[in-house]
Amino acid sequence: MKKVLLAGGCGFIGSHLADRLCRRNDIDRLVIVDNLWTGRLENLAAISDARVEFVRSDVETFTSDTKFDEIYHLASPASPPWYMTQPLRTISANVVGALNLLNLLKPGGVIGYTSTSEVYGDPVITPQPETYRGSVDCTGPRSSYDESKRCVEAMLFEAHRVHGTRVKVVRLFNVYGPRTRPDDGRAVSNFITQALQGKPITIYGDGSQTRSWGHIDDIVEALERYFWRDGTDFPGPLNVGNDREISVIEVAEFIQSHFPKSPIVFLPPVAQDPTNRRPDLTLCNQILPGWVCAIPYEEGVMLSTEWFRKEVLVPA
Ligand code: UDP
Repeated sequence: MKKVLLAGGCGFIGSHLADRLCRRNDIDRLVIVDNLWTGRLENLAAISDARVEFVRSDVETFTSDTKFDEIYHLASPASPPWYMTQPLRTISANVVGALNLLNLLKPGGVIGYTSTSEVYGDPVITPQPETYRGSVDCTGPRSSYDESKRCVEAMLFEAHRVHGTRVKVVRLFNVYGPRTRPDDGRAVSNFITQALQGKPITIYGDGSQTRSWGHIDDIVEALERYFWRDGTDFPGPLNVGNDREISVIEVAEFIQSHFPKSPIVFLPPVAQDPTNRRPDLTLCNQILPGWVCAIPYEEGVMLSTEWFRKEVLVPA
């Protein structure tokens, strides 16, 4: 039986991964570590499982007498307004957190890490394959996130190359859906929250910038298959996301079409906001054959709206 450690398990993506881990019957202990900075304990409310133990701790300082067969490191803020206001803490959670977690891995164990499409920065080729080395500014306003993710990738691949550590590095493109904090600050959750509250939908810049948004249910299915279900030992990096690229203004207009009371307003652009982002899924199709983002964007947004409706106070 396996002992599994999930860091960041109260977060948006982490808590969905926790649900999937609880479905396994080859685990006898699942330790979920989270400092509840961006994660929320209510994200685990649906879990009632004697094998699960929650520990409120920073990922950097978590200690345990147990060594783990599998460790998943999802302990990082992912939204620009959150990581930009606490950049050093963000770097620490990723980098120092990964170093700490490596020490808790059993010999022969595997560590999975959710890296990001932000490693591609403001890409000059599209779609972005894993071989693209990115266009990132290591002193720019997004560097705490981009560069710490890149640094952890470097750490894990060196551990793999030099020490034979089993690693699985996935680069997630934009993810949306239930359990995103209403105050998370990213485009889809902001637009839905604003629309539900009858407030203006805020576009930063002219809205021509693009992203490729994947619904959480599709993304966590890929994570489950890659991290444990398909039995692959591929170390990554592996792009996972939706390869349908949509502009920010299209997203805003789609949501506004269902909430006509909310006007669209244009605010100043965010410094160094990437102009485009779209995964090349060639490798993903080989490693996870048959996996696709099955939930169309329009359906996913409407499903998410129903979840946010319960979270957000709608004025009478
Ligand atoms: N964005 C926007 N209005 C918002 C929130 C975000 O126009 O209220 C833009 C943001 O500037 C970026 C895109 O939407 O161009 C995606 O932003 P998000 O924060 O969702 O993800 P990331 O920038 O990390 O890809």
